[in-house]
Amino acid sequence: MIDHPEPTHLDDGSGLDTDVLIVGAGVTGIYQLYLAHKSGFSALLLEAGGGVGGTWYWNRYPGCRFDSESYTYAYLFSKELFDEWEWAELFAEQPETERYLNHVVDRFDLRRHMRFDARVTAATYDEPAGTWTVVADDGSRLRSRYLVATTGVLSVPFYPDLPGRQDFRGVSFHTGLWPESPVEFAGRRVAVIGTGSSGVQIAPVIADQVASLTVYQRSANWCTPLNNAPITPEEHRRLRAGFEAMREVLNTSLAGFLHPANERSAFDDSEDERRVFFETMWNSPGFAKLSSNYADVLFDDAANAEWCEFIAKKVRDIVGDPETADKLIPKDHGFGEKRPPFVTDYYEMYNNPKVSLIDLKETPIVRITERGIETTEGEAEFDIVVWATGFDFGTGALLRMGIRGRDGLALEDHWADGPRTFLGLQTTGFPNLFFPGGPHAAAGNNPRYNGDQVEFITHALTFVRDHGYDIIEVGPELEDEWTAMVDRGASKSPFGEASYFFGTNIPGKPRKYLLNSGGRPKLFKEIAKVVANDYQAFRLSRSSDGGDRGEG
Ligand SMILES: Cc1cc2nc3c(=O)[nH]c(=O)nc-3n(C[C@H](O)[C@H](O)[C@H](O)COP(=O)(O)OP(=O)(O)OC[C@H]3O[C@@H](n4cnc5c(N)ncnc54)[C@H](O)[C@@H]3O)c2cc1C
Repeated sequence: MIDHPEPTHLDDGSGLDTDVLIVGAGVTGIYQLYLAHKSGFSALLLEAGGGVGGTWYWNRYPGCRFDSESYTYAYLFSKELFDEWEWAELFAEQPETERYLNHVVDRFDLRRHMRFDARVTAATYDEPAGTWTVVADDGSRLRSRYLVATTGVLSVPFYPDLPGRQDFRGVSFHTGLWPESPVEFAGRRVAVIGTGSSGVQIAPVIADQVASLTVYQRSANWCTPLNNAPITPEEHRRLRAGFEAMREVLNTSLAGFLHPANERSAFDDSEDERRVFFETMWNSPGFAKLSSNYADVLFDDAANAEWCEFIAKKVRDIVGDPETADKLIPKDHGFGEKRPPFVTDYYEMYNNPKVSLIDLKETPIVRITERGIETTEGEAEFDIVVWATGFDFGTGALLRMGIRGRDGLALEDHWADGPRTFLGLQTTGFPNLFFPGGPHAAAGNNPRYNGDQVEFITHALTFVRDHGYDIIEVGPELEDEWTAMVDRGASKSPFGEASYFFGTNIPGKPRKYLLNSGGRPKLFKEIAKVVANDYQAFRLSRSSDGGDRGEG
């Protein structure tokens, strides 16, 4: 979207270890590393995990796969890269995505700029040098001009505060911290706690292997079929031929998907027409059920209720036991108020006599015991407990990194009432710090809007360098404006306050909207304004040891 100038190496003689220090080797950090180098900056990346992939490194539980169409999630900056990777399925499984991201890293020779098993524990802004000193738990201590935290929004696994978790004598895993060696489920008594996107992915995949599977559900979710399929050679040929047109759509569409928007409203159609249309939606891939559904389905209660009733009927038709079916149908929120999971054989799984469902609203967990899980109805024994209990969304990783800005300001204090940002990528009092793909980013297909931010950051750093500055920061006015825009728009968002997009799943977390309620169009508009006005929106300055590097 933004043209990058030819590389011209920054060399300010300031004794820095690197120009750009990136934290996190997920899809966002890899792209930032690639673009920083391409634009002539030296750049290094630190990663807490033992390898490349971020989400696709940590979430290696059985059944983990995309809800985004594989080729729409992939990088679009290189046609050659696009052509040479043939995704096996429309929605790839975790191992393939992990392989793909490793392939990208090796193909563009990025691995030598990465350090693994290095969790950043402190990042301190040094005045007046205008640099960051970053400390990691592998002993790394690095000084860099710019710090780009690509630490992810779903990268800090969350465990509910239940007494006795440490007492359990069997084995237990969080889906977001899954071990590399395969877990043996055959013949085991297994509990899955949580029925969000991860819980509903893993349960049907292990159901046939286990001796018994008990699913503990806190809230029922509106699950609809993912409708995965292999990608045929013919489809690959068509995708390659249509690459440019596809890239154009993905780079500009509202949520970064290919699914076309529907202009019709639910009640433009008769009841029979609606039923036929909903059937088409039910059979459509992944997020098409949001993007291509009736235009008012996420915004009009009556339209939403029609779609929910259609799904509820499907659940009652699929699940043999009426009591279980009823438990699986949400009563407290409409479709899209929470991030809806997409499933394969999830409802069907409950017809397997080995599988049972515990509704935690009726029988809450009292404690975890040595042998299993005790609810108000008694204790059940397990060999394996799977915690599919989600993440500290949006701010979790950034607030655990020990970030200290001007005058020692702690990010935790600056964001005590929720994140405050401009464009979802800078915050006042923390010069030269960026956090693409963090809080206040747009919602949808992640790499697309995280990529927008990474491209903008690279453009900004290049502008700063080429105009003889080395400090870029945002003032309080723009931060106030963007944060107020996010807060104002929150009430109009389809997501309700029960959603983790408001931090509601984390006790004590401020209830603030964590996405950019203006979405991608607002981000594009503001970025275009900033660029057209030669970055006057930002405060650009020169550090005391910035050297003499031309105008500014
Ligand atoms: C199970 C699951 C499925 C998903 N499916 C989809 C999907 O289909 N489509 C979609 O668009 N999005 C999906 N997402 C969201 C997903 O997080 C993003 O697509 C994407 O992975 C974000 O990339 P990222 O690089 O910004 O962050 P991440 O992939 O989360 O990577 C961040 C990295 O930063 C590292 N890190 C964090 N803190 C530190 C620190 N202090 N020091 C060093 N390293 C640190 C972490 O270890 C991690 O490796 C899914 C998320 C999950 C959990």
